[in-house]
Amino acid sequence: MTQVNERIVHELVHQVLQQVETGWGGRVPPTAGKGAAPPVSASGAGTARVKAAAGPAPPATGANRWGQFTDVETAVAAARAAQQALSRQSLERRGIACELIRQVCRTRADELGRMEFEETKIGHLPHKVDKLLLAADCAQGIEALRTECFSGDNGITLEERGPWGVIGVITPVTHSLPTLAINAVNMIAAGNSLVCNPHPAGKRIAAYGAQLFNQAIYEKLGIDNLISIITNPTIETAGQIFSHPHVGLLTITGGPGVVAAALKSGKRAICAGPGNPPVVVDASADLDNAARCILEGASYDNNLLCCGEKEVYVVAEVFDAMMEAMARVGAHRLSTDQMEELAKICIQSPPDGGHPHAIKEFVGAAPDVLARKIGVTVPSDCRLLYGQTGPDSPLVQAEQMTPVLPFVRCNSFEEAVDFALQAEHGYRHTAVVHSKLVDHMTYMGKIMDTTLYIKNGPSVAGDGIGGEGYTNLSIACTTGEGVCTPNTFTRFRRCTMVDNLRIV
Ligand code: NAD
Repeated sequence: MTQVNERIVHELVHQVLQQVETGWGGRVPPTAGKGAAPPVSASGAGTARVKAAAGPAPPATGANRWGQFTDVETAVAAARAAQQALSRQSLERRGIACELIRQVCRTRADELGRMEFEETKIGHLPHKVDKLLLAADCAQGIEALRTECFSGDNGITLEERGPWGVIGVITPVTHSLPTLAINAVNMIAAGNSLVCNPHPAGKRIAAYGAQLFNQAIYEKLGIDNLISIITNPTIETAGQIFSHPHVGLLTITGGPGVVAAALKSGKRAICAGPGNPPVVVDASADLDNAARCILEGASYDNNLLCCGEKEVYVVAEVFDAMMEAMARVGAHRLSTDQMEELAKICIQSPPDGGHPHAIKEFVGAAPDVLARKIGVTVPSDCRLLYGQTGPDSPLVQAEQMTPVLPFVRCNSFEEAVDFALQAEHGYRHTAVVHSKLVDHMTYMGKIMDTTLYIKNGPSVAGDGIGGEGYTNLSIACTTGEGVCTPNTFTRFRRCTMVDNLRIV
């Protein structure tokens, strides 16, 4: 790296700027063939002042790649050129780019959700569609960027949020395109471009989505490759992104392995890492509400959400009543022996002594499929399996991401919280309590010290789904940024005027 890279970037920036300046971005690119996004309007983003005029023919190279790259070097060069072109555009036009991504998610959610489901073969189809609609409705754009101002006798100081440049992005198989879409809206709002190494098992939907996003943006703004994708991603290409000198920041959404690799890279990394969210139910809880909430959170997309309920601790006084409440909301109860049989099939412990985890084949599998593995038949619309286990069961200790929920009987609320803390493994991700006692809620919140803490609701409410606040599928629990926003992907910039400009 890299005189060649510098030359490519220079050439690409020049080409992109030519198009932007001549207004070429107002027309449908001639090479946008089958699969191109339909023309999209930039509603709500103040289109009146956006120029869209005809111009010269598109350039021969660089643009019209729609972000599809087989190698990291070219992908970073193209993303860098795109980012430099974006940085010369108004905030309003950045907002348009964000809205175009949201619109692709909104108008093609059924098609893209089905494609993701068919490729990854995990989770629950309606929730794949749901997550794209979530991206369309909830991904925060330029409106979320925050500036601060200090005004006093010494003048004025303005603090603004600047872009990092090219952000290296890693996405999980659990929500390949929704994560990419929300990351892209946040990051572009903040003035960045992306180079994404998607999970290999969700690479086709990520690449197709990126193609649609880039086409829509190019059609309106004349910039291609803001979202660049490695079409055949490997651990090696991830490593090349981690060490690339023109990648300013990393954003990782994934499990412990990739988080550890990114944190070793020497670059700043925002890590939305693993969790194993425990639920505690005390004797004061509304058990029917707790059952409804636990079913909703733990069964969402067959429990693929990192914040989904993964194990439940119930005080002995109400344990049996809680198990009955779960049956009333339609979960299917397994015996303790059946739970342990399932654990033997689904969970494995790594030879190096790390936490146990679910075998890939079972992650996000449907309840009826899992039940069949142990000779149990449940209706195909059953959403959750559950049963009693001990606190050390692999089903409790593994972030198993299956719709199988272990329930542990506890002697006291304090014991339940101790067990919960142990099973959360210090990820500081998510914890849930069902209680009417303020002292209990406060005690558990302090002990757990998690990024999301939900009281008397489903886990997803902590991520703004059915609870207040905004939503993101990247919850940076590992590195502490929390639920990501466009501000997460910015650099602090301060501008000071001494002794002047204050008008009061
Ligand atoms: P995964 O860790 O298997 O893969 C995630 C990504 O990392 C993939 O793109 C994969 O190819 C890549 N990867 C894996 N090991 C790597 C390495 N050593 N070097 C470079 N790249 C590597 O996880 P998954 O099964 O795709 O997703 C589930 C995991 O992600 C769970 O642990 C879940 O909790 C976590 N997750 C967290 C959040 C959050 O917001 N905190 C959101 C979604 C998923």
